[in-house]
Order: sequence, then structure tokens, then C-alpha cells
Amino acid sequence: MARANVPGVNLRELGEFGLIEAIRRRAAQAHPGWRVSIGDDAAAFVPTRGEELVATTDALVEDVHFRWRTTDPRSLGHKALAVNLSDVGAMGARPIGFLLTLGLPRRLAPKLLDRFFAGLLKLARASKCPLVGGDIVRSPAFTATVTAFGSVRAGRALLRSGARAGDRLFVTGSLGAAAAGLRLVEGRGARSAAERALVRRQIAPTPPWRAGARLVEARLSRAAIDVSDGLAQDLGHVARASGVGARVDVEKLPLARGLARAAERIGVDPLALALAGGEDYELLFTCARGAPSAAVLSRRLACRVTEIGVITAARGVTFTRAGVAFAPPSAGFQHFRSARKPSEKE
Ligand code: ADP
Ligand code: MG
Repeated sequence: MARANVPGVNLRELGEFGLIEAIRRRAAQAHPGWRVSIGDDAAAFVPTRGEELVATTDALVEDVHFRWRTTDPRSLGHKALAVNLSDVGAMGARPIGFLLTLGLPRRLAPKLLDRFFAGLLKLARASKCPLVGGDIVRSPAFTATVTAFGSVRAGRALLRSGARAGDRLFVTGSLGAAAAGLRLVEGRGARSAAERALVRRQIAPTPPWRAGARLVEARLSRAAIDVSDGLAQDLGHVARASGVGARVDVEKLPLARGLARAAERIGVDPLALALAGGEDYELLFTCARGAPSAAVLSRRLACRVTEIGVITAARGVTFTRAGVAFAPPSAGFQHFRSARKPSEKE
């Protein structure tokens, strides 16, 4: 294997155990819950009374979920944890720690692991979510699989099945940026600062992973999902799981800044990117009718919140524009999908 500078030395000399030791030293992060972390057969966590554990995992596989041509190791390390924090947050939980399984090809670019861990561990510290164990295997393609854990008050997790007819529907942040960014990097590249910002959203997403726990702690919501496959599809999951429907006013959708211009240049409908683009990693959630306004929720969740529609007793997800029914445009673009099984998602 070529040079891998987690500790600044050659991985062939280090070997698996040397690499683990280097990771252990570098990942050291104080956390009251973990009694045992990297270095034993398994990590040991002391559960908090009255809380339940949530667990989630997401893999990033070279040439399936990312290409080195269009991303960098630091961003990939960040993204490997960020997408898992998004799922933990969408349950209304606070992150408590994670495991990392690395699949490493024989040849690795110099400094690749060093930069990967820089991005990964920076987010780990920012989210108070320590790396507590993992595995290292040989693999023909680079893979980074994170399994993250979170903690939430028992029985209070935000479930896909928690929406009720009459609830109001909200989404954090803005939509469509990552999908536009992906089209830009897979196409002719970003040409302006605004387009480069869209690309950043795809390469290094910043999910509002604290928002879900804040909703739970303020008892403001019972249902949420993170928008990873496009708002239309993910809202469909909530509606089906809850046995209800939803109506979205497309004029209210918070389109990402610069999306309209970039979409025009790429030759795609910005609404298609916002509704079906995927990888937004925003939080879609419901609140009971008497909940505070989006402006108040924005302050309480410390992120932008937009009210986009309502949950209906009639099944199915429908869209309106200027009060009339509206058939949303399809994204017509399935990035990397040819390399995937239909069940695989980004
Ligand atoms: P075992 O053979 O018992 O599974 P390993 O040699 O695979 O043990 O791992 C030794 C220790 O190093 C374990 O605590 C494991 O969780 C940790 N570890 C291994 N790989 C990683 C990794 N990629 N990131 C963090 N910790 C790791
Ligand atoms: Mg092992």
C-alpha cells in the first residue's frame, strides 16, 4: 500500500494495528458516556436512564457514491459522518458516538487518510460524537461506512409514522442545491461562486443535526424524516407510514440560492431538483396545528425553517401552485444509478 499519513508514516510499515493505534490517538475525544472505546474488543456505553438508543449506518463507496475526480478526502470524511448525523437528528436524537469501517485499496494517494480523518474528526468534535471503534479491511474500492448512535428520551423519537391529519408541514434550510451541484460536477463544472456553493452542498453537506433533538425537547413534533432522496419521495414515506396524505404548496418551497440560474444553465427545471433531486439532508417535520410560526421555529431550532404544506386525511402526496393542482416535474436524472442496484440510495 502506498503512503497513508494518518500519523505521517507509511501504512505498509504501520500495518493494521499501527494504523488503529494512530486512529485511536487522533480520535481521542472526551465523552462522559463511553467507558471503553477504541482498543478493546468492543466499545462500552453507559446508557442514560429514561433514554433510548437510536442506531443508523450509511456507506460511501468509491465510484458508487462518490468519485475522487470530483471530491476530496477531507470533504469525504466530513460527509461520511454528516449523512449519519442527519439520520440520528431525524429521529430527534442527540448523537453520542460512531463506529467506522474503512475499506482500503492497496494503493492510496499520499495524505489521503490524513485528510479523510481531518474532515471526519472535525465534525466528530463539533457534534460531540466521538469515534469509538471500527474495522479496517482490504477492498478494491475505497469505502467508508459509519454506524452512528444517538440518544433520545424514551418514546419521544420522531417517527415517519407520527404525522396526523391537520398537522402542518415544515422543512429546514433550502432544497435542490446538492442535486444541482452534482449535475454541475458531473457535467461541465461550476462557473461562478454561486455554482461552487451548490457543489459544496453536494460534496460536504451540513445537515441541521441538532434541529430534531430541539423539536423533541420542546415537544413540538412527533414526525420527521431527513430529506435524502428528494422531498417528494421522502414525504411519501412519511405519509404512507402515518396512513395519511400531504399537500405541498410548491411556491413556498425554499429553493437554494442560485438554484434557478444554475438550473437554467444546466437545462433542468429547478422545481425538479428541489422536489426530486436528493441529498439535501434537510429535516422535513410535522407540527400540530397550534404550533408556532416558521419564524419562531427558526429561532428555536437555530436554523431556517419554512412552512410548506399540510398533512391531509386523504392519502397520497399532492402539490399545488397558486391554489391549483400541479404535477411536479421529474428530475429525469439518476446520478450514478447505473452502477447501483435499484434498492441502493445515495
Ligand atoms: P477485533 O479483531 O477484536 O475486531 P480489531 O483489530 O479489528 O479487533 O480492532 C481493534 C480495536 O480497534 C477495536 O477496538 C476496534 O473497534 C478498533 N478499530 C479498528 N478499526 C477501526 C477504525 N477504522 N476506526 C476506529 N477504531 C477502529
Ligand atoms: Mg475487527
